[in-house]
Amino acid sequence: MSKSYLEEYEAGYTPKLVMEEASRCLLCHDAPCSKACPAGTDPAKFIRSVRFRNFKGAAETVRINNVLGAICARVCPTERYCQQGCSRSGIDKPIDIGRIQRYITDFEDACKMKILEVKKPNGKRVAVVGSGPAGLATAGLLAQDGYKVEVYEKEAKAGGYLRYGIPEYRLPSAVVDREVKRIKDLGVEFKLGEKVEDLAKLQEEYDAVVVAVGHGAGKVLPIFAGKRFVKTAVNFLKDAKRKKGNLKLPDNVLVIGGGDVAMDTVTTLKLLGVKQVTDVVYETFEEFKASKKELQGAQEQGVSIIDGYVPVSLKGKTVKFEHRFIKNELKVKADLIILAVGQYTEAGLLGLDVNKAQEVEGVSGNLFVAGDIAKGEKTVVYAVRSAKETAYAVKKYLGGK
Ligand SMILES: Cc1cc2nc3c(=O)[nH]c(=O)nc-3n(C[C@H](O)[C@H](O)[C@H](O)COP(=O)(O)OP(=O)(O)OC[C@H]3O[C@@H](n4cnc5c(N)ncnc54)[C@H](O)[C@@H]3O)c2cc1C
Ligand code: SF4
Repeated sequence: MSKSYLEEYEAGYTPKLVMEEASRCLLCHDAPCSKACPAGTDPAKFIRSVRFRNFKGAAETVRINNVLGAICARVCPTERYCQQGCSRSGIDKPIDIGRIQRYITDFEDACKMKILEVKKPNGKRVAVVGSGPAGLATAGLLAQDGYKVEVYEKEAKAGGYLRYGIPEYRLPSAVVDREVKRIKDLGVEFKLGEKVEDLAKLQEEYDAVVVAVGHGAGKVLPIFAGKRFVKTAVNFLKDAKRKKGNLKLPDNVLVIGGGDVAMDTVTTLKLLGVKQVTDVVYETFEEFKASKKELQGAQEQGVSIIDGYVPVSLKGKTVKFEHRFIKNELKVKADLIILAVGQYTEAGLLGLDVNKAQEVEGVSGNLFVAGDIAKGEKTVVYAVRSAKETAYAVKKYLGGK
């Protein structure tokens, strides 16, 4: 593939193509696509507006329902949500809802539309800890209702995994910048480079505090602990995004893991010119966790994927694996090993109770949680849903409507 790390993977629709795709929509009554969106973005309604060439109306539907609509348009695993139940699948294939939504939000941006409005200040102050999608969406929703919201973020830029995780070729930084600016324009204040260590102090200072610190740390399997040539996938992807792909990488890299984060890692490595990328995966192909689209992207890049093996020991830079079901050993030598075997939260460092599923339990009073550390699926659209639920709970607690 000739695309570079900095080029967007999938082309956006032209005006002609978006109309053609929207015209395939059956305009279903009680539409399954709208019921299936965790954030309530209402695809059936915005596609109907596109059919009538009312792009402003379409943008309003997206943005009012989903404060991070342009980001979800690009990264949402639509095949698991809105597109899964699409009635058009029975005829040929589902409507490409994500790409239609992307056209609409790009149009919204090109026309400099300002859709969201802010109510009069209500005198209440809310602190949000973490500026990933959950923190951004909670802040945006509360700001619209007249709350004074301040977001604390330990990194130099806002966005969480949108900024420092999802690769540039799938989610350009320029799109994240635009979405963050939309939240700022609602009056939200960002305190960047400020790591929160004392929640009790914030709880005293603000009327409510929302913690949205995510699952920021990559897991390390014990046999790899402390090795200089071993990195976690989230740290590798963060480096790649920060340095715009300018990384010094060896010719031969081994990745361990088979979820979407692993697929982002192997594809990024190939786009950055690594000759030999081998991915060894615990799951068999039948059990694969990664989305089909991401897996296909990795395969198109020429990544070698070996399924069904567990790493059991490390000697020098050679990892020995054993097959989960048959008596078979595999040895792979690599100059860099990247572990994509899951993430965990550091919310415990803030004194919060974290369960085995890496979710925070037992918060009360003026303390709330949102995003990956709350109950639910760990996706951007779920972070938006969680933000909606949390913003509602904060308003109820503070006596708002
Ligand atoms: C590589 C990768 C690719 C992904 N791809 C997709 C995808 O394509 N589609 C999809 O839907 N989902 C994807 N996900 C999952 C998605 O990114 C997460 O579910 C989502 O970002 C969770 O949002 P969040 O706001 O809860 O947490 P995060 O995005 O993790 O944000 C948490 C923020 O809190 C900050 N923070 C942490 N501790 C503190 C502190 N003490 N003080 C101040 N700030 C703090 C962090 O710096 C960070 O900015 C991906 C995840 C990864 C890692
Ligand atoms: S389910 Fe599919 S066909 Fe029906 S309204 Fe939604 S996008 Fe259109």
